[in-house]
Amino acid sequence: MQTFVTREEIFIWREQQQAEQKQIGFVPTMGALHQGHLSLVEQACKENDIVLVSIFVNPKQFNQSADLQSYPRMLSADLALLHHLSNVVIFAPDEHEMYPAHIPYSPMPLGKIGQLLEGAHRPGHFEGVVHVVHHLFALIQPHRAYFGQKDFQQLAIIRSLNEYYGFGINIIGCETIRESDGLAMSSRNLRLTHDQRQNAVSISKAITLIKNRCGLDPIEEVKQAARYIIEQAGLAIDYLEIVDPTTLEKCTEWQQLQVCCVAAFCGEVRLIDNMLCESVL
Ligand code: AMP
Repeated sequence: MQTFVTREEIFIWREQQQAEQKQIGFVPTMGALHQGHLSLVEQACKENDIVLVSIFVNPKQFNQSADLQSYPRMLSADLALLHHLSNVVIFAPDEHEMYPAHIPYSPMPLGKIGQLLEGAHRPGHFEGVVHVVHHLFALIQPHRAYFGQKDFQQLAIIRSLNEYYGFGINIIGCETIRESDGLAMSSRNLRLTHDQRQNAVSISKAITLIKNRCGLDPIEEVKQAARYIIEQAGLAIDYLEIVDPTTLEKCTEWQQLQVCCVAAFCGEVRLIDNMLCESVL
């Protein structure tokens, strides 16, 4: 499997793919790969001639240095997981290679959607995400790029980034892959102790409760019941909101479709999850 570390190597590779009229799929990741990442890669492999997976822990999107320090890094295990896929190549640059001083970049205004939920609770996070994805899109110029709905708000921001900078890439949102008990797969799950792992499932239990009671009981009552499940398990809720899937504004009443979004600390580890909920009314 080809593993590139420099922009120059990617530039040459991309020119070659374009000359051969290959359809390029792109899956950006921060490594510590799990089945959630692999589902994106597998879908990309089906829909493209060649797939580039980037592995880069992006310091610009971490608003807490302790979180950046403790983020799992396991490049050789990641490469081993992808090794059997014949049409996959890897880009694993270092920070200097990702952000060379000479690359032009004018930040995109994030707008309202970037200021809510994660935007409000992790200042600077989406600015960092947009910066790295801008550079990756500009360098790789894929036909299709794959992102998880697990990061629901990020997916919305990537769609607006694609429009704002005029990349013209087909942005594909992929379903959230879960452990058998419902916990959304995440690289951060590796940092949970045995007990924390048991308690972390309360997040998916809470959002499933919201999905099941959507439109049936008063919205505030349902939110309270969901909060209770998470707090009883010993997690500290950062936010738990039911929002409009397009504007991400809080819903005060049930509507046809909403998304419940949760961020909670399980010990030191901050986990996020979300679920689309359709009202039965
Ligand atoms: P990350 O490495 O956490 O930056 O994630 C890289 C990509 O994988 C992002 O588009 C995530 O939304 C996606 N992803 C992470 N976890 C999951 C999951 N459990 N199911 C599906 N996609 C995921």
